[in-house]
Amino acid sequence: MFCQDASAPFLFLFSDIAPQLLYYSHFTGIIATLVIGSYVFFKNTSSISAFLIFIVAILFSLWSIFDVITWVNIDSRIIMLSWGLMNLVEPLIYLTLLYFVSHYLKEKTDYRFKFVVVILFLPILFLLSTTYNLKYFDLSVCESIQGELMKYNYSFEILLSALIIYFLVKNLIFIREGMSRKHIVIFSLGVIFFIISFSWANIVGNITTDWEITQYGLFGAPVFMGVLAYLIVRYKAFNVKVFGVQALMLSLIIIIASEYFFIDSLVNFILVGITLILALGFGYILTKSVKRDIQQKEELEVLSQQLVKANIQLKKLDKAKSEFISIASHQLRTPLTAIKGYLSLVVEGSYGQVDDSVKNALQKAYSANERLILLVEDLLNASRIESGRMKYDLADARLEDLVSQSCDSLALKAEDEGLFLKVNAPKSPLPVFHVDGIKVREVISNFIDNAIKYTEKGGVEIGFESDSNSVKIIVSDTGIGIPRDEIPYLFKKFSRGKNTSRLNATGTGLGLFVAKNIIEAHGGRVWVESDGIGKGSRFYIQLPLKWIDPNISTEVGMKEGE
Ligand code: ADP
Repeated sequence: MFCQDASAPFLFLFSDIAPQLLYYSHFTGIIATLVIGSYVFFKNTSSISAFLIFIVAILFSLWSIFDVITWVNIDSRIIMLSWGLMNLVEPLIYLTLLYFVSHYLKEKTDYRFKFVVVILFLPILFLLSTTYNLKYFDLSVCESIQGELMKYNYSFEILLSALIIYFLVKNLIFIREGMSRKHIVIFSLGVIFFIISFSWANIVGNITTDWEITQYGLFGAPVFMGVLAYLIVRYKAFNVKVFGVQALMLSLIIIIASEYFFIDSLVNFILVGITLILALGFGYILTKSVKRDIQQKEELEVLSQQLVKANIQLKKLDKAKSEFISIASHQLRTPLTAIKGYLSLVVEGSYGQVDDSVKNALQKAYSANERLILLVEDLLNASRIESGRMKYDLADARLEDLVSQSCDSLALKAEDEGLFLKVNAPKSPLPVFHVDGIKVREVISNFIDNAIKYTEKGGVEIGFESDSNSVKIIVSDTGIGIPRDEIPYLFKKFSRGKNTSRLNATGTGLGLFVAKNIIEAHGGRVWVESDGIGKGSRFYIQLPLKWIDPNISTEVGMKEGE
């Protein structure tokens, strides 16, 4: 049956009100949403959000096609069919949109929620072809008369819209990690305006009966779908710059290609063809280069993020290592001190007379133990320095005494190695220094120990130099010397010279690091001079006569009047 008296819709179409508006509003929307939806989907095939927005685009296009069919037909059977199908597709759009929003915002909806929503949708599906959906066709107005299901449809759509808004508001209040407020605001506006522009016809149609205004709503839908697509692209996988360049090139090519509709000469035909080929070529190169740039940038970003993570991990490991060393060294120190005590008691004869060969062996054990104590002390000091727990007990001390104590404990070792160990007393008595005597002695011992360790022939000499500001202790040896390029690194943690392996000299590379820190904490300086490989070395310890201890903020160093 056909509408004879072509009233409302039919009349609208061919009247003067807006003859082309219907086609414009619907087909622009269909093409734009399909282009946007499929672009985003095919660029992000693994993204569920992109897939859902693609489904919304398809449903929206279907709805628009049914709507156009309903408007332009006068065949009642076709109108009844397309109108009826619209009543199915419309709630489906809200349903997919709800799914999209909850997925995008990572809302955890349990199975009961999904079950209830699906159950509520079922009546719409099952009553689709009954008179509850469309009652009959009114030829006089050329319209289908809606059944009771219409109210249910509207209520269902309002409920889904309310749920969508609930999710949006909830996320705006409690911002989830990884999402900025700006991101959620743009997303919420995109979704809400999409719903408004889509239901515009219903909202306005119910308030006014102006069919022209209702058409404008459909222009909004692709725009807001574009916003959502942008967000998926921007915050998910693909980069928005490539998206922009491709969109620009696509519109340029469409504009050039559309000139074919107005071409009337062969010359123009060829010219437009060449322009089109050029645009295609340049467009391809441009997109490719932008893509490459962005990929490189992204790779760099990923790398720098990995570096940051690795750095944090390294710091943690370093801390754990320092803690371990500190605990282990503490445990080692006590038995070593006990061994030292007993060995010297036995050597001194406190447990009865020992013959020379046993004494000799015990003395070797004693000096090996001494080395071990020094090593453990170095480890402990290094971990204290690193964690900022190094403490200094300042007291009056004479540098000459500290030097001679160090020499005493190492004399045996030098003798064993067949080396001389000589101290040249200062020309005039040195002032009394206010320092941590034990730690400064450790540094001196370390330098002498090294000098013995790294000398094959000759020996070690210790001298003093002083001026009006400072006193220097110089430990010189006739040993293996130090190549110029190694000098800047020697005082760093765990740094050992290349030549050391030749001598089979054991060590950790911590002694000089600890020494530098201890002397600098006293306001002094350590350094080394060497004339090169095989030419011996001179290690310097310089302590100022006056310095401010930052921990106690008073002037220490040389005592006043001395
Ligand atoms: P270790 O002696 O345990 O290796 P140190 O921190 O005490 O560690 O010394 C660091 C490095 O400095 C040594 O490995 C060695 O190469 C070099 N060095 C130190 N003292 C001397 C010296 N007197 N002569 C030559 N090289 C030395």
